[in-house]
Amino acid sequence: MDCQPGHGRSVYNWLINNQPCLLCDEPAQQPYPLCAACETELPWLQERCGRCALPMAIDGVLCGQCARRAPPFTQVEAPWHYGFPVDSLISQFKHNARWPLGRLLGELLGHWLQARFDDGLPRPDCLLPVPMGRKRLRQRGFNQATLLARWLGTQLRLPVDEHMLLRPVETRAQQDLDARQRQRNLLQAFTLAPRPWVQGRHLALVDDVMTTGATARALAQLLLRAGAERVDVYCLARTAKPGAA
Ligand SMILES: [Zn+2]
Ligand SMILES: [Zn+2]
Repeated sequence: MDCQPGHGRSVYNWLINNQPCLLCDEPAQQPYPLCAACETELPWLQERCGRCALPMAIDGVLCGQCARRAPPFTQVEAPWHYGFPVDSLISQFKHNARWPLGRLLGELLGHWLQARFDDGLPRPDCLLPVPMGRKRLRQRGFNQATLLARWLGTQLRLPVDEHMLLRPVETRAQQDLDARQRQRNLLQAFTLAPRPWVQGRHLALVDDVMTTGATARALAQLLLRAGAERVDVYCLARTAKPGAA
């Protein structure tokens, strides 16, 4: 191999250019398998609730729910609306085990979080994947939140604890329930591992999609009651209010 100045860069460029975009199959020409055109077209979440990231008409104000009663978590970070094509990419990742799609979304979430840390968002002490019930884990074979947390942990150099949060009780499929029923369903579902290292720590929950926020609220409450100082939530996408566009 030639070691002339400038050669390293062209080899690097060749590596970058050589990956096809996972969405359109054109050369990605980026350090990850997504071309700039497809990246721009992703449903980036702009105006959002300053606390729970619910899509809003104006940015930074609180949504009705957070204004009425502050949620137990401090901050939800989500780069995207749960809209096309992110919804379909997440679904293929989860239901068809298309890990490269999950890996790509996870990497972009990592870039997003790093930019937020650079802007002053405090880095957490540890990442905690939202646990999955044993039965569903057996059916699917993997927990997408655990994979995301592992990828984020490596990229952002943050520890991941996969065993602190437990889900011993099987819950009914949440889609069929209204917000109040979901909350009731979830309060009983989660528990902490024996003697969890929680006291005084800043923890961040990791999940793929945040819908009503009931899961995040239940888990954040559990951690704060056990002595956690702060709980944030990192997810790929945030849905609008049920029934909203
Ligand atoms: Zn593309
Ligand atoms: Zn809110």
